Amino acid sequence: MEIVFLVKLGEILLKLGNRKEFEDRLKFDLKRRLEGRATRVEFFPGRIYVEPMEGREAEVEAVLSRIPGVNGFARAYRVRKTPAAVFEASLAVAEAMAAAGMRRFKAESRRSDKSFPLTSYELSRDIGAVVLEAQPSLVVDLHKPEFTINAEIRERAYVFADSNKGLRGLPIGSQGRGLLLLSGGIDSPVAGYLMASRGLGLDAVYFHAYPYTSKEAWDKVAALAKVVASFTGGMNLWTVSFTEVQMRIKQLAREDLTTLMMRAAMMEISTALAARLGANSLVTGESLGQVASQTAENLRFTGSFTDLPVFRPLVGTDKEDTIAMAKRIGSFDISILPYEDCCVLFSPKHPLLRAELQRERAAYAALDLGSLLEDALKTTERTIVPFSITLP
Ligand code: ATP
Ligand code: MG
Repeated sequence: MEIVFLVKLGEILLKLGNRKEFEDRLKFDLKRRLEGRATRVEFFPGRIYVEPMEGREAEVEAVLSRIPGVNGFARAYRVRKTPAAVFEASLAVAEAMAAAGMRRFKAESRRSDKSFPLTSYELSRDIGAVVLEAQPSLVVDLHKPEFTINAEIRERAYVFADSNKGLRGLPIGSQGRGLLLLSGGIDSPVAGYLMASRGLGLDAVYFHAYPYTSKEAWDKVAALAKVVASFTGGMNLWTVSFTEVQMRIKQLAREDLTTLMMRAAMMEISTALAARLGANSLVTGESLGQVASQTAENLRFTGSFTDLPVFRPLVGTDKEDTIAMAKRIGSFDISILPYEDCCVLFSPKHPLLRAELQRERAAYAALDLGSLLEDALKTTERTIVPFSITLP
């Protein structure tokens, strides 16, 4: 029996006016990510079928579970459109589920081909009977089944157990491209993942203060970029040398303002870089009240150095929930490696909690960073982070 993945779309289907554009983006992205992993990707209205290459099923699953715009997917048997072939496939599904320790099941059928000899009701009923006879350990439970055997009669017949969750959201690039401020911490990779799932393509920028921050700190950021790229489908990591700017701030700024001043400088450089890259927004991992620089007043202050929308998808998220997401996407273990990013090393003991916009902007202007920021921007180095997936 042939294995195919049956892919379901989600929010895309609600896009009335420009649904085609969304679907085209997803097709393009899927094909690219599945290159070398699938022999065929077939598109039908509201459905996509993926034929995995031999031995590449796990990789295909990893791709499908990480691509924005896919609601869910199931590993299915594709068989001839005859009751006998559907029963055979149903038995194979049931056997695997029984071997995994499951007991209560139900069968569910749908047919778009009305010439199939059994109605949906009859087909479900007969699948149930055939399975019960072959697998006496199983019982039918229509209300609380542990698994469902689905049979779909379309151009061919598809038989599968429950489907896996996809990332949902919108296809990459449908919302343009943003610039992710990526540090070595827990939050910013998660923020990148969340915005990618909203269809925002991403580049990342990292402010590196060598030698105050080590080569290992950079490696860590690059490893995090790789995790984010497994959702965006690849991206560029831009490294800005921030040492001079940081030293100037350390020398001249009042101590309780240093973090805010560094954030403001990052915003300015990121805005200039975004313009060069054609990015339409900035993305950060900030969360309201998490640290001193993330009070409403301080976010207003740092936000005042850019005219781009600043997406802070974690603004209302509790740290524990962020950590759970970081674990799920595979960034957590990297984020907790010890190498500190620049801001931690330079953070003041008692940072200012509530910036007064005009007063603090004047303090920043007095630092006269203009030409240093330009120089920093000139140091920007590009690292290509290709799309890749690592299997657990
Ligand atoms: P994270 O866990 O992402 O580091 P955080 O809670 O530690 O976040 P901060 O260190 O205050 O918070 O940083 C706030 C945000 O500023 C980060 O989420 C990130 O988007 C950005 N940022 C901080 N430091 C850097 C850096 N060196 N390079 C790029 N962006 C940075
Ligand atoms: Mg941090």
